This record gives sequence, structure tokens and C-alpha cells, in this order.
Amino acid sequence: MLEALQSRIHRIQDRMSVARQMSIAMALVSLAGIAALAIVSASLSRTEMIRRITTDVTLSAQMVATQLDDEMFERYADIRQLATMSPLSTLWTGDPAAVRIALDQLRDALPTYAWIGFAAPDGTVIAATGSLLEGVSVAQRPWFTGALAGPFVGDVHEALLLAKHLGLSRTGEPMRFVDVAFPIRNAGGQLVGVLGAHLGFDWAEDLRRGALQGSQDKEIWVLGSDGAVLLGPRQATPLFAPERVAQMTRTKAGAFEEKRGGKDTLTAYAVADGKGDYPGLGWIVVAQQDASVAFAIPTRLGATILAIGMVVMLVSVLLTIWVSRRLSRPLAALTQAAGEIGRNPQVTMLPRLRGSLEVIQVSGSLRALIRRLGSVELRFEEHAQRYEEDLAALRRLADSDPLTGLMNRRSFLSVAETALQGTRSSDRLGILMGDIDHFKLVNDTYGHAAGDAVIRFVAATIAASLRLQDRVARFGGEEFVVLLLDVTEAETVALAERIRLAIAESPVMFEDHAIRVSMSFGVALVNRGDPDVDAVIERADFALYEAKTTGRNRVALANSVAKVA
Ligand code: GH3
Ligand code: MG
Ligand code: MG
Repeated sequence: MLEALQSRIHRIQDRMSVARQMSIAMALVSLAGIAALAIVSASLSRTEMIRRITTDVTLSAQMVATQLDDEMFERYADIRQLATMSPLSTLWTGDPAAVRIALDQLRDALPTYAWIGFAAPDGTVIAATGSLLEGVSVAQRPWFTGALAGPFVGDVHEALLLAKHLGLSRTGEPMRFVDVAFPIRNAGGQLVGVLGAHLGFDWAEDLRRGALQGSQDKEIWVLGSDGAVLLGPRQATPLFAPERVAQMTRTKAGAFEEKRGGKDTLTAYAVADGKGDYPGLGWIVVAQQDASVAFAIPTRLGATILAIGMVVMLVSVLLTIWVSRRLSRPLAALTQAAGEIGRNPQVTMLPRLRGSLEVIQVSGSLRALIRRLGSVELRFEEHAQRYEEDLAALRRLADSDPLTGLMNRRSFLSVAETALQGTRSSDRLGILMGDIDHFKLVNDTYGHAAGDAVIRFVAATIAASLRLQDRVARFGGEEFVVLLLDVTEAETVALAERIRLAIAESPVMFEDHAIRVSMSFGVALVNRGDPDVDAVIERADFALYEAKTTGRNRVALANSVAKVA
């Protein structure tokens, strides 16, 4: 598997130039680096964004929740104080007008109070701010019934009885109230009435808006403990599913990420669960930030890094191509020069190249290699020449007689045969066969070396007597054969006579001895019917035998077959 992959890579590499391989590698490395950088930066910055937004919405939600609790605690404390202050105990059972004055003063000091009233234990309103609802029975109102049992806090509701007296709220909606009510008892602990206050809810809206000040894409809601929107933009559908609301109520505070209307949002919540002895109404303050804009920043950052990276990659790939082209150029020059060597006689050496340390080293070693090859070639040529010379010498040796330097039997026969084939139709080819007389005696008398000297002398004498076209060979021992071209019988005999006389008349000087030898000859000429040169030699040999037997030191002419016939 791995090997298959490797060989595949090798096959691809073998077809690619260094420049391309390096630029591909560079592109891949840069791409991986840039992608990693872009992804890591985007994700880091996204994490940081989430952290910041979460912190911001969490602070907003907690701040609003705390402020709601603070305000409610204050009002709760106001009403409790009014209901329980002992110097006022006589007030409640006294003149209703005095009660009304006290209530009006409290309301004027704090416009949050929409209405404050004092009802008798039977539910009839005895005194109230602005005299509103005086004489009316509130016996059925939750705040009244609730306060009969103890301190009461009533959640946000629209006013049933007061609506027509108070008109619309600042925001143009029907007025909504939060109720705080306390029972009032005399020193004996007997119920003398119920003090109830309706707090307008506009202050809470002010708090909500204050917390939103200057923030973009952020929204804050105040939800009732049931998840219904009390403050903040109304939604067609409930803002959160009941399970989510239950979870918020249970955990009191937290944050989560969710998609809302196709947008990424970060939501933090804080439950306003009271302060001091004010028990709280379980309102849930929700701060939500549309994070899609914020999340676009990491995406943009990643894209920017990617774009810059692409430009850097392009530049680095171009640079790589340029550098690797420059690096491989000397290699191309080297390759071309190497291709010329041996083909182009003008090119005998590789150029000295530069471009990198490696190139210098490669061209240096190749040049050294070629120099070494040159000297090896020179030595080879010398050897080859010597071999040729040796071969020629060997050939000469094989063809010649070592003692005399004349042709030997083998080379003579082949030369004579060739000559015979060329002169078949004529009778103009003669063979002369000679043998030194009593040569054994020379050896026996003067020694073998003297014998050799005699043989050399005879050879030289015969060779000196011949014409350029004639050939002489030593046939072994002290026997010689001469081939004469273009001769008559008479000429052949005359030549044999001349040689015989020359040998007989000149003594061979060896050491202090003058050795005299004689020679016998047999002569034969080529006949028409001779199948080969051996036949002629045989006749000459026979004539030689005749010369020997008839006294030696003479020339005998062979009887030709034609003559016999
Ligand atoms: P003939 O007149 O009958 O020819 O008598 P001969 O003594 O020459 O007889 P034969 O041919 O029998 O003797 C030849 C001798 O030549 C025998 C041999 O020892 C001697 N011989 C042959 N080759 C050489 C040689 O190369 N050098 C020397 N020194 N002697 C040789
Ligand atoms: Mg002999
Ligand atoms: Mg002899």
C-alpha cells in the first residue's frame, strides 16, 4: 500500500522539473499554514467575542434584576413602615381626611405610587390618594384579601377599578400596576384595616431602557415568572418555551447561545428573587445580543488572513519558481554539455558552473571524472596500439622462420598456391628446391651454432640472388624452396646454378673457422595438369633427390609430366 503510493509519487516526480516540484510543495505548505492560521484566528476571535458578549449581556441582565429588586424593596419598606409605625396607630382609626393627607403626601413625594388607599376590614375604601375609590369595596381585590393574611406583594396587572380614573400610561398603554399591601393592627393586635399601594410600572420600563442605553443589537425583556413578557418588545409567540422558563427560574442566572430568527444570539438571564424581607416576584430579566454581526468579525478576519495568505503564497510560489529555475539552469547546461561530449569533437570538457554549492561540487566532480576517463582512454589506446603491434609481430612470427627470417612452409604454400591459381594457363612458374650437402657433418664438426650460422648464410645468399617478385622459404632443417614467377626452365636452372656456385665458393666464417658447404638443387616448372603447387614441389623434390644421388653440389631438372608423356 505504502510502497505503491511511494512508487506512484516517484513516477509523478520523475516527470516534473525541480521548479515545479518545489513550487507545488511550497504552495501546499503555504496553503496548509494559511488555512490553519485563518481557522485558528477565526475560532480564537469567535471565542473571545462570545466571552465579551456573554459578559455584557450577563451584566445587563443582572443589573436590571438587581435594580428591580432594589426598587421593589424600597416601596415594600415604605408601605410596611407606614403600616407599622406606632405613632401613626391612632391615625387609621381617626379622621379619614387626615389619612388621605398622609397618603397624598407620600404619593406626591414618590410619583411611582399611582394610588395608595386605606380600606376598612370589610373592604370599603376609607381614604385614598386623590379620594379615588373612596367608599368603593375592594373586598374582592387580591391585594385586599391577600393582605388580610399578612404582607402582600401582587404581580403586574392592569387596573380594573382605577383604569377609568388614571387614564393611559406614559407609553400609551393601559396602566399596569404592582401591588404592595400590609394589614394594619392596633396595639391589641386587632385588624383595623389594610393599607394598599398600586405602583405604576413605568419606572421598571425606565430601568430597562436605561440598561439598553448605547448598545446596539441588544434587547432586554422582563418576563413574569410564567415567562410572559412584562416589559420589552412584545412577541407574537412566547419568547421562551416553558421548559426554558422553568430552567431559568431554577438556575436563577446563566447564559446560552441560540438561533433566533435565523440569527445567532447570545442570551443571559437573571431572576429577580427579592431583597431583604421583600420576597420578590420571580421576574426573569433576559438580555439578548444579536451576535451575527459580532460573529461576522471572526469570519471576516479569517477571510482577510486567507486573502493576504493567498497573495503571500502566490509571491512565494513565483519566488520558488524563479529560484529553482536559477538553481536547475546549471544542471541543464551540464546535461547539454555532457550530451555533446563524444559527439562534438570541439567539446571535450564540461563547463565550470556556479549557482550553488552543490552545483559547484557536481560540476567539479564531473570534470574530474572526465579527466580521469580521458587518461584511462589514453592508456587504453596505448594498450590497443601495443596489442596491434604485438599481433602484427605474432603474425610475422607465425609466417616466418625464426632463424633466417624467411617465409616458413605454411606461408610459402599459401603464397605459391595463390600464384599458381593466377598462372594456370602458362608454364611460367618455377620451383627450386635446395638442400645443404652433408650438413650433419657441419653440426658434428663445428657444433650446432655453426650449423645455424651456415643456415643463415645460405638463406641470405639465396635471398640476395632473387628478383623482387620471387619468394624463398625455409622448409625446415637445411632445406629451402624458391618460387620463381614468370621464368623459363633455362632461367630457373641458371639461377639455381648461380646460387649453387655462390654457396660453394664462399666459406662461412664462424669463430676461427672457414666452413665450406655445398648445396644440391632440384628444379621443376609448373605443368598444365598440376592440380596444386604440392605437385610441382614434389617433382622438384624428386629432382633434388636425383641431384643428391648423383654426387651432390649440382642442379637437377625434373622431368616434366608433359615431357614424360
Ligand atoms: P645430405 O647430403 O644427404 O643431405 O646429408 P645431410 O647430413 O645433410 O643429411 P640430413 O638431411 O639427414 O641431416 C640434416 C641434419 O641437419 C640433421 C639435423 O641435426 C641438422 N639440422 C636440422 N635442422 C637444424 C638446425 O636448425 N640447425 C642446425 N645446426 N642443425 C640442423
Ligand atoms: Mg636435408
Ligand atoms: Mg642435407
